[in-house]
Amino acid sequence: MKIHFLPAFHGDAIWLNYNDSNGIPRNILIDGGPAETYSEKDKKGKIEFGILSDTINSIRDNEQRIDLLILTHVDDDHINGLMHWINDDVHATSLIDRIWFNSGKLIFEHFNVSDIIENHIALSVGESTDTSIKDGVTFENLIKNKGIWEYKIIKQGQSIELLDLKFRILSPDEDGLRELLHKWEKKEPESLTAASKDYKKTITELLTSDVYAKDPSIHNGSSIAFIITYNGKDMLFLADAHPEKIVEGLKHFEFTKDNPLVCEFVKISHHGSKYNTSYKLLELIESPTYVISSNGSKRSPYKQCLARIIDSKKDLSLFFNYPELAKDIFLNEDFENYPDLKILPVDYEFRIA
Ligand SMILES: [Zn+2]
Repeated sequence: MKIHFLPAFHGDAIWLNYNDSNGIPRNILIDGGPAETYSEKDKKGKIEFGILSDTINSIRDNEQRIDLLILTHVDDDHINGLMHWINDDVHATSLIDRIWFNSGKLIFEHFNVSDIIENHIALSVGESTDTSIKDGVTFENLIKNKGIWEYKIIKQGQSIELLDLKFRILSPDEDGLRELLHKWEKKEPESLTAASKDYKKTITELLTSDVYAKDPSIHNGSSIAFIITYNGKDMLFLADAHPEKIVEGLKHFEFTKDNPLVCEFVKISHHGSKYNTSYKLLELIESPTYVISSNGSKRSPYKQCLARIIDSKKDLSLFFNYPELAKDIFLNEDFENYPDLKILPVDYEFRIA
């Protein structure tokens, strides 16, 4: 299996490609980054297609399918690239076989509460000039009508065998879903937007009286996070999930401090935010490699988050899907104090045999 952490700006877009036991090539897409991951206009107004578009085209050109599309949660930096594709390409949904998505509609139904239509994701499929087609098209209705949405809540404790893989779902739990039972706000909590970068401090300085504080984002708390097992090897994908929920989820699957999850790599939660990696979580994981998906344009990654991981694990590799970030973040003193810290190169390939 090859795992690609696509450079999706400040968001996530992860592509898994492998052959199943019958030799059939399979593709799983976890999120699709912000809109520009699919396409953006250059200064002259010309459309330039991005890495998500290239990935989709290569799957299509090889006559393969997107066997499973997972939308971890509704934030722009995870779903807008995909919505951009679906708006742009009328054939988009015919390439997809199956979608996991805890949409507002599904969550409200799950709790038997009447739905709030503003929470649905509006589309303008094919940029149609016929407004009767354009109006009222939602992503939820489109994928339901196409029969590609599994239309079941994905939540903590589920163990799902699919496409020769095993998924163990760690987040969200019922409480994380229940918190979404209102009209959704687009704005992130103040406490998350005010911070400045902490890259001038050494790891040692950042760890002095370091105290973990919780992520207040309700949307992040609804993130679908999971362990994927392929050929007996585990990989941990944490979306933007809350560490408290991941800890609960790992404990549910009987991982403890003395019996931690041993995995090939961890996709660190929320682009390396310090609000999404706690010491309690790190105790339950044993992995040689940690992945940070961010171009550094927003607040993340926080060096404080990386400092926690580095100090807890000592001998480890970090992979940045924008590797030039490492030069901004780490000081010579950091490498002197942590000689076993390695930064993986830009062309590093994640492969699981
Ligand atoms: Zn995110």
